[in-house]
Amino acid sequence: MRMRRWATIGMTTLACNGAAQKQGTPSQPIRVLVVTATQGFRHTDAIAASKERLTADAAPDMRFDFTEDPAALNARNLQQYDVLFLNNSTLRITPPNPRDSASVASVKWPRTGLTNPVTREQQEAIISFVRDGKGLAVVHSGVDAFYGWSEYRDIVGGGLFQSHPFTREARVTVEDRTNPATSHFGPSVTLKEEYYYLDRDPRATSHVLMSLDLTSVGDTTRTDHPLAFIRRYGNGRVYVNVLGHFADTWRRDDYLKSVLQGIRIAAGRLPADFSTR
Ligand SMILES: [Zn+2]
Repeated sequence: MRMRRWATIGMTTLACNGAAQKQGTPSQPIRVLVVTATQGFRHTDAIAASKERLTADAAPDMRFDFTEDPAALNARNLQQYDVLFLNNSTLRITPPNPRDSASVASVKWPRTGLTNPVTREQQEAIISFVRDGKGLAVVHSGVDAFYGWSEYRDIVGGGLFQSHPFTREARVTVEDRTNPATSHFGPSVTLKEEYYYLDRDPRATSHVLMSLDLTSVGDTTRTDHPLAFIRRYGNGRVYVNVLGHFADTWRRDDYLKSVLQGIRIAAGRLPADFSTR
């Protein structure tokens, strides 16, 4: 009898604490929807490694939900989240006009055919999510996606995947050493990666955090190559990191920290300078 009374008191105390936490804590966990669905190329190893690394232990202030289902990208589901994280997800849209061959070609359908392309209604849901004040984080082949959808191109700064001429060790210049997503790096960092080239330079509309040191790959054909940047879209915040091809990149603590800080910036939990540079 005595034990039962203690148990009751214990439960009441716990319940009170739970209620107080729910109402009073200013910092609720950042709710992150991590989309790893692929309709184009799949970075199997990098996605697996990212799932091992994106945990409550690594980021106690975040709650990660992973999905492989493009149908999860809808207004009702998105409203549960603070940040949408397109993590090596190579998604495709329904062509604006399926009878127009140019329109169909622009969306880069995979040769094997496609199920569950992201519909116009889903595109509107993603646009509203970001524009109305939430966050978007995009890693690596998250920019090898959504061809033919002009608003997505605008949201991520203007450039989508064009080619990857360099898969090797190269030097990355840290352009903003005060931003929380890059302040833990030195003036430069060397890593083995697949270095995407984008078809348009996002610098004009974005705040560049890191760029490829073109001398380290011997490329004299271009003068600028941003690799990580942040930007505003409407009331929302966008973090793009073009790095993240290899599982070993994900296993680097400095890379993981950069991505986690980028998610916090996208969520509006960390202040950051968004001015173009
Ligand atoms: Zn890749």
